[in-house]
Amino acid sequence: MTASARDTQDATKPGSYLNVHQNLDQDWIVFLGTATSEGVPRVSCLTEQPAPRCRVCVDASTRPQSPNRRRNTSLVVRRRRRTLDGREALGGRTHENVVIDVGKFFYQAAIDVFPAAGLRQIDAVVLTHEHADATNGLDDLRDWTLNIGRRQGDGPLCIPVWGDAATLERVKSAFPYLVEPSRATGSGLVPKLSFHQIEAYERFCPTHPHLAGNGSCVDANRARNAFETDCLNLLPIPVEHGRDQSCLAFRFGEVVYMSDVSCIPPKAMDAIRGCRILVVDALHPGTGTHISHFCEQQALELAIELRPEYTFFTGMTHMWDHERDNERLAAWAAAESRRSGARPLHVELACDGLCVPVNL
Ligand SMILES: [Zn+2]
Ligand SMILES: [Zn+2]
Repeated sequence: MTASARDTQDATKPGSYLNVHQNLDQDWIVFLGTATSEGVPRVSCLTEQPAPRCRVCVDASTRPQSPNRRRNTSLVVRRRRRTLDGREALGGRTHENVVIDVGKFFYQAAIDVFPAAGLRQIDAVVLTHEHADATNGLDDLRDWTLNIGRRQGDGPLCIPVWGDAATLERVKSAFPYLVEPSRATGSGLVPKLSFHQIEAYERFCPTHPHLAGNGSCVDANRARNAFETDCLNLLPIPVEHGRDQSCLAFRFGEVVYMSDVSCIPPKAMDAIRGCRILVVDALHPGTGTHISHFCEQQALELAIELRPEYTFFTGMTHMWDHERDNERLAAWAAAESRRSGARPLHVELACDGLCVPVNL
């Protein structure tokens, strides 16, 4: 990693963005959304009588680019293409973009974050679980498949979409015309998607679905595509997300992304140890618990156990106040490292549009 999250002050400043085209030698994660299902602000807070009392929702709705404005959890993983012989990468592009979750507010998040962060193409979509805040934006992918091709003159781009068996079942019943385009009505102009099943603990390359199960694209790519040596691969890690609901966390390179979790089984704990950057569910501030999500206390306990260099909270309700709680967490982290004598923890709330440089 050539720059730490703390070095990118422009990116971590609330409400500002870093154009990720500015450093073409770097891999990035870009937060598209950091809220729970309902988003922030809540309409119920803004319409409260006789006057709204929720400071966070009022701030989110009235201050331009407030970091308290949050959409459904979603992340773009932007990884630079490695080349064997220095030849131009496919289509002249230097990076590939994989989106994790496209929820109810995906379109709103994309129109804010994609232009500001210098993002354009989507090369694959990975779904963590079947809930609406992870999947209901699939229909909005039509703009990417119909209007943003890999090369000029190509037909519609087909985006591979990945999920576990339960998630693909839910997508099939909610969006039958996406899975079987012959069922489309009207103009028939629907997103061109291909669907691929994720198996627990089987690494996969989301941008190369024909290599599923292989675990690495290195050798296959050498034969197929002489200038590309490897591609992003993800390790899917099942965790509990409330009663009878599983969710996939993902490990890729030094990053663990765990957006919806209420309990981490021992095998999953083993799989996430040693990460340098942890993104973790933290629904509410304080010491309370919730049936289907981690809250602050559990997220901090996980950070203490894993001791990643950076921990980012996501999946947050309007009970979190970005600036006030980030100050509080910074003070907590300083006190914890004094008390434990261990390497300092950096724990902060992510915000929509935050760009963090990583090594993948
Ligand atoms: Zn509120
Ligand atoms: Zn969920």
